[in-house]
Amino acid sequence: MDALAALMKGPLPDLYFCIGNPVVGNPTQYMVEEAFSALNHPGRYLTCEVQPTELEASMWGLRALQFAGGNVTAPFKQQVFPFLDDLSESARLCQAVNCITRQPDGTYVGDNTDGKGFLQSLKEALGDIAQRKVILFGSGGAASAIATELVLAEIREVVLVNRSEDKAQAVAKRLQGISKTIVRTEKWEGTYRLQEDGLVTVQATSVGLFNKQACINVEFEGGLKDCLACDVVFNPVDTAFLQKAREAGWKTLDGLGMLVNQGSIAIRNWTGLEPDRTLMRRSLEEAFAVLTK
Ligand code: NDP
Repeated sequence: MDALAALMKGPLPDLYFCIGNPVVGNPTQYMVEEAFSALNHPGRYLTCEVQPTELEASMWGLRALQFAGGNVTAPFKQQVFPFLDDLSESARLCQAVNCITRQPDGTYVGDNTDGKGFLQSLKEALGDIAQRKVILFGSGGAASAIATELVLAEIREVVLVNRSEDKAQAVAKRLQGISKTIVRTEKWEGTYRLQEDGLVTVQATSVGLFNKQACINVEFEGGLKDCLACDVVFNPVDTAFLQKAREAGWKTLDGLGMLVNQGSIAIRNWTGLEPDRTLMRRSLEEAFAVLTK
């Protein structure tokens, strides 16, 4: 009835978008609409598949229709830059936008909430992270967003390990000197051995996505103190990487928490409201369960 009253008497509900290609299988709409509903926020969120040749027309269309904000997924996280008025520090440093917000003056600002979502999970797991060293596997969009936030948070050291070292070096070059964080790269050849007390390691490659058996080539030393292994892969939730870490006595952090957190930060950007993250996690689990039916 409230929706009908809004339609007849206004104000019309805010509209939000998710653009990418492909977008079928992306659960964000369900998670965001469940969160909006619990918040009594009258927003509508639409998942739109955009052809690469239509990105420019789509972006001007979303602006003309005064969408209040939205999410951007592959392959457009960099290609949307020309259609935005400004970028947050995170988006500029990691060279990718996954969240757009319309400002009160009608301009559109791009942010990256992936790394912020990860950082929130990490702080919730460890508390103070200042003295930690992080071994980060991968140098694509997810790894670059995570490295950016770790550097902005002034963590002690970040080591980017990637099979194509030039990509790791490009990320490191953007981040070196931004804060007191030491940023290094290492080429990944053969088995990478994780063998220091207090280490945090992050699996930020695409290995293990939709594959329960696949695991990057690493060995976890047993008997270490206070080590944490994190995976960005969220489907399956309990990846082979996390299982291997646990078998060696490491604590673990799954990628679903990061996915929930990046979404909750986006909702905060758009509405100023704090969504229920437990509900958001449950809605993602429900959405992924549909894929396995
Ligand atoms: P990209 O395609 O940008 O990067 C992929 C990275 O994985 C590259 O560094 C690539 O190395 C590396 N890689 C791929 N295959 C292998 C392999 N066999 N061995 C070693 N390294 C490999 O992907 P994204 O960074 O966008 O996404 C990575 C993962 O993060 C995906 O699973 C995605 O679903 C997940 N993700 C999770 C989020 C969350 O909220 N939990 C948010 C965003 C992403 P190279 O450079 O050598 O090719």
